[in-house]
Amino acid sequence: MQKGTINVQTENIFPIIKKFLYSEHEIFLRELISNAVDATQKLKTLAALGKYNGDMSDLTIEVTLNAKKKTISVKDKGIGMTAAEVDKYINQIAFSSAEEFIKKFKTKTESEMNAIIGHFGLGFYSSFMVSKKVEILTKTYQTRGENKGVRWECDGSPDYSMDESDKTDRGTEVILHIADDSKEYLEEHRLLEILKKYCKFLPVPIRFGNEKVWEKVEGEKDKDGNDKEVEIEKPRIINNTDPLWKKKPVDLKDEDYKKFYHELYPFTFEEPLFWIHLNVDYPFNLTGILYFPKVKRNLEVQKDKIQLYCNQVFVTDSVEGIVPDFLTLLHGVLDSPDIPLNVSRSYLQSDPNVKKISNHITKKVADKLETLFKDTRPDFESKWDDIKVFIEYGIISQPDFYDRAKKFCLLKNVDKKYFTFEEYENLVKPAQKDKDGQLIYLYATNEQEQYGFIQSVKERGYDVLLMDGILESHFINTLEQKLEKTRFTRVDSDTIEKLIKKEEVLPSKLNEDQQKSIREVIEKQIDSKKFTLVFESLSEKESPFLITQNEFMRRMKEMSALGGGGYSFMGEMPENYNLVVNSNNPLIGQLLLEPDGSKQADIIRQLFDLALLAQNMLKGKELAEFIKRTTGLVG
Ligand code: ADP
Repeated sequence: MQKGTINVQTENIFPIIKKFLYSEHEIFLRELISNAVDATQKLKTLAALGKYNGDMSDLTIEVTLNAKKKTISVKDKGIGMTAAEVDKYINQIAFSSAEEFIKKFKTKTESEMNAIIGHFGLGFYSSFMVSKKVEILTKTYQTRGENKGVRWECDGSPDYSMDESDKTDRGTEVILHIADDSKEYLEEHRLLEILKKYCKFLPVPIRFGNEKVWEKVEGEKDKDGNDKEVEIEKPRIINNTDPLWKKKPVDLKDEDYKKFYHELYPFTFEEPLFWIHLNVDYPFNLTGILYFPKVKRNLEVQKDKIQLYCNQVFVTDSVEGIVPDFLTLLHGVLDSPDIPLNVSRSYLQSDPNVKKISNHITKKVADKLETLFKDTRPDFESKWDDIKVFIEYGIISQPDFYDRAKKFCLLKNVDKKYFTFEEYENLVKPAQKDKDGQLIYLYATNEQEQYGFIQSVKERGYDVLLMDGILESHFINTLEQKLEKTRFTRVDSDTIEKLIKKEEVLPSKLNEDQQKSIREVIEKQIDSKKFTLVFESLSEKESPFLITQNEFMRRMKEMSALGGGGYSFMGEMPENYNLVVNSNNPLIGQLLLEPDGSKQADIIRQLFDLALLAQNMLKGKELAEFIKRTTGLVG
């Protein structure tokens, strides 16, 4: 029996490992199973090279819970270790990486430390986070030389003991004696949850106890004539050893991708819109499948659904810094051994490999969208409303993405027709240039609420875009910077004459004195902080009173509400509207001539309420009064 003290300078590293190694202790199981998988894969390689010809029929890794004895064991049929190897790999090497961790720990501030924690691979020693004692029973695959079974044990102090064991079968079993403060891991459902999270796609079968399933009995019927089924118990294998992203795209059908989507997200019932199968082996290694999901209005909850794997071991579902922000809205898996996982997030973001991967993914996504647009435009258009948020987000946040996206990014008008930027420019160029040669894109954000405005704009022969997405105000701002001599303005941001300013102006039917006297009577009745009164000589057919809202102010307020862009101060500004009086509408002339002051006030009230109503601004008490008053008029 060999006794020894693990070669560390720090007196006792275990309390530190326990406290700081991983913010999530559950990771111990991933680490132990990864080691078991590695040991199995190594054996497979040796067998493939003809260097091992023992029994390879069943390589299943067994995870066993013994709640009574308070142990969890992970047992593999891999290459195993000789006594010398245990000494080298477990007593020396593994500990030296533990020591390195401690050294780093000592030189860093707490916040830097927190960045490292969670991504520092300490492998085997992470088992001390949850154990008061750890045993290893192992026997090497080698049939010659020093090949006896070995038993190693350590109780969480730097002292270990090592002994011969009578283990006869090849492989390694690690037995954890769970510490009192980690009892949660002695619950079957908790272990199952961890296994499902980290090990779902590992390449070697992993068994955790048994499960009950119903199985058909060949050729037998029950009394109702249905196939007879019996409940049987069979080993519970928790992983799919051959996940879809590892397969060749040519061998796969749409159904396979959809099925896999539901395997990844068992609680999602929606179908993905489409997907991209990634397969790169130079200059870095990356496989994966990215799905475009149907995006709901709440962007934040949709983020962080991409699962990141390292050789089929689940690492994280927080891919921030690895893929561009707008792509975090996608779902799916990425698997790469080239993403350095044992480092902090800030390091990750500056890592050249990660940058390359991120650029590659962006390029692939753009390629896919471009192909879909070119090859199947009607289908692409039918999906547009669901995917536009990705593309708009990409254009807003990723300057170089615009150059790709301008080929397939679509604008939709209120008649539900779709246009590329170029097509739309050509459509509106003849009619929608103002007197300074600026192209004016008119838009609505809500077809119902802005119905009246949309109609009068269309009567003029102008086109109206429907911009009703969540990111629209930011998107419009970005487009105004990208598109030359182009300005966006909402249909209710000004009177029809001024939306697209042309040379000719209609003469006013009121002289200055008349305007002044009308202004006085109107101003008595409206809140002058909220409404600025302006006179305009519009066509006779236009309403006598109109409420408009300045485009710039409204958009700034919207952007500040959404966050980003540095417009937060705008959120504080009070709402302000224009009350436009159409001096050419005959009713205004009548108003001027009305001798009865209270009747004049009634007319103004009525016209003002109608203008509010057209903007969906007449609410509550005012609305009720309006209805009452108007009903009275009919009677
Ligand atoms: P890492 O896996 O990152 O190398 P670990 O601390 O997890 O670090 O393990 C140290 C070494 O111990 C491994 O590299 C391997 O050589 C050996 N080892 C650990 N677990 C097993 C196992 N189940 N079977 C065979 N060897 C193992």
